[in-house]
Amino acid sequence: MSDRLVAALSAIVGPDAVVADRASLTTYESDAFGLVRGDARAVVLPRSTDEVSRVVALCHREHVPVVPRGAGTGLSGGAAPVDGGVIVETARMKRILSIDAAARLAVVQPGVANAVLSAAARPHGLVFGPDPSSGAVCTLGGNAAENAGGPHALKHGLTTQHVLGLEVVLANGEVVNLGGAVDGMPGYDLVGLFVGSEGLLGVTTALTVRLSPLAPETRTLLVAFPSLVAGCEAVGDLIEAGLEPSALEALDRGTIATIEASAEYAAGYPLDAELALLVDLDGTAVEVERAVAEASRICRARGATEIREGADESSRRKLWKGRKSAFGAMGRLRGDVYVLDGTVPRSALPRVLAFTVDVAARYGLTICNVFHAGDGNLHPNISFDGRDPDMTRRALAAGAEILRACVDAGGSITGEHGVGVEKLSFMHWMFGERELAEMEALKRLVDPSLSLNPGKLIPSTKGCAEAKGKHDLVGEPR
Ligand SMILES: Cc1cc2nc3c(=O)[nH]c(=O)nc-3n(C[C@H](O)[C@H](O)[C@H](O)COP(=O)(O)OP(=O)(O)OC[C@H]3O[C@@H](n4cnc5c(N)ncnc54)[C@H](O)[C@@H]3O)c2cc1C
Repeated sequence: MSDRLVAALSAIVGPDAVVADRASLTTYESDAFGLVRGDARAVVLPRSTDEVSRVVALCHREHVPVVPRGAGTGLSGGAAPVDGGVIVETARMKRILSIDAAARLAVVQPGVANAVLSAAARPHGLVFGPDPSSGAVCTLGGNAAENAGGPHALKHGLTTQHVLGLEVVLANGEVVNLGGAVDGMPGYDLVGLFVGSEGLLGVTTALTVRLSPLAPETRTLLVAFPSLVAGCEAVGDLIEAGLEPSALEALDRGTIATIEASAEYAAGYPLDAELALLVDLDGTAVEVERAVAEASRICRARGATEIREGADESSRRKLWKGRKSAFGAMGRLRGDVYVLDGTVPRSALPRVLAFTVDVAARYGLTICNVFHAGDGNLHPNISFDGRDPDMTRRALAAGAEILRACVDAGGSITGEHGVGVEKLSFMHWMFGERELAEMEALKRLVDPSLSLNPGKLIPSTKGCAEAKGKHDLVGEPR
């Protein structure tokens, strides 16, 4: 049956667009959340909506699960294979179909990388707002499925605010168009339903996205604080004062040390700071001048020990390169990094951040915090060695405690990385039985045979799939 399946897939997309040998499939056994792995039967790389439709219809007829995949940078196991399933990867669907500068819209295939779209929009004075730190490679299809954010989500919002229309292949291969090229479409907000649905409702084959005007001027401040509390309180003060930074990122001492230890990523961050803020202020030259003065005053009042400005575009880029490379730099600490993604109300930042320090000490682990402070979106990065089962167990348990603390503080188990497999067992912290049943009912309405990305996002569908943890993912914090 499997060889017959591979032959049938090859007949649709051509043999060069099917990966089915064991050695090559190991590349696909997980996404960037390496703790959940699976064995796909095949990976298919279609070039068009028609090919996606025929592949998905074939899998539907053969009762083979389908996992949509972009660049595989997801951090919650959403693109991890389901055993025996077919991965539909969008790597060959990376054409920007149109950019309409007057309407500030772009139509793209799902495999276009986030930063590629922004680079293409730039000559028109436009940018695609959401900018995940993985933007150089992660795809717009993946961004939509995860409702991705990024440093500039503070001003621009998450991906859902930027998607107007979707072309989607449903579980039976049928192609539907949701939304359109204008706001205010009548009927249910089906685009809103599909954005953030983590590949459970359909394979996106084209997106109509909103582009935003580039600010006339942007200035970047790097501010050093002597304590986590002082830095976090400055974050609240900046927002409370009515400033609207386009990005407001934070890096703790461990993160700074790790970045600065890397010849490739070192950005000249202050090694003696307990917390550093990276603040982007944009607008007209006059607006930015005023905002820089006000932000500096506020930070000094909270005890900032140093305020530095990226004086020109190249030093600004260097400051940002350090931040955007933080996850990569952390790979040097241990073999593996568990990147958490809990969100809390901004006012709870000092308390929850202090809790991560306590958790690190109790579990004997290194946890470095680098996060979207303006959004209250924490990214504690737990370094561990995946070859050491005890350390892995501790990393997972520590992560669960921290995410539980985020929920207890009125926040969420995820701000932008999605639930995937990683946070399945945490969903009941946030939703009651009835709400989870509604989610499953919606899934079954669109995909009655649960063939699209089963076992992700909705806990009750877990038994329908065999994506398995290399280590048991923990459920409850101790
Ligand atoms: C170093 C690093 C930094 C990161 N920084 C950020 C950040 O700042 N902000 C942020 O939000 N995320 C961040 N991420 C997480 C990740 O990059 C995002 O979730 C991104 O949106 C995933 O895109 P992808 O193309 O890699 O998708 P994948 O990982 O391939 O897939 C992610 C999910 O989307 C689904 N999917 C993919 N393509 C489609 C499609 N065409 N149709 C339907 N479903 C689809 C998959 O099934 C899966 O559930 C980071 C990751 C890394 C490794």
